[in-house]
Amino acid sequence: MKNKRTELKVQAIRTGTVIDHIQAENTYRVFTMLNLEKSTDHVYFGTNLESKKLGKKGIIKISNKFFEPEEISKIALVAPHATLIEIRDYEIIKKQQVELPREVHNIVKCVNPKCVTNNQEVPTQFKIIRDHHGKLKLLCRYCEKTMSMSDVQFL
Ligand SMILES: [Zn+2]
Repeated sequence: MKNKRTELKVQAIRTGTVIDHIQAENTYRVFTMLNLEKSTDHVYFGTNLESKKLGKKGIIKISNKFFEPEEISKIALVAPHATLIEIRDYEIIKKQQVELPREVHNIVKCVNPKCVTNNQEVPTQFKIIRDHHGKLKLLCRYCEKTMSMSDVQFL
């Protein structure tokens, strides 16, 4: 049986991408990280919606936008449970769970002011790791400093 409510929500945009199942507290972060405040297309933003999976969730719908793998990696860092739904002419053409990359290149800034990436023209590189509590961390390949997701600044 199809869930009618979900179907209606998804069909609200004609062509574009829906980012569903964002943890409610991270919805605005996803929005700003993707620079959606600058978008000239329709962008719908909803948060604190009911979710069986997450309790409360956020959803962002962006018209005429399909994300590149690099942007999907960024989304995965901030919203590891997110689902991306691509729509063309009201039809779902693709539905995928974002996947955490093993590494990110040149999308995140190192927190260490002494790191070579902050002092020379060196692209940043981080390994995605989990600490002993299972929390996501980023490990700089140059200075080996780790930072937690809440400290991440996107380039
Ligand atoms: Zn570093």
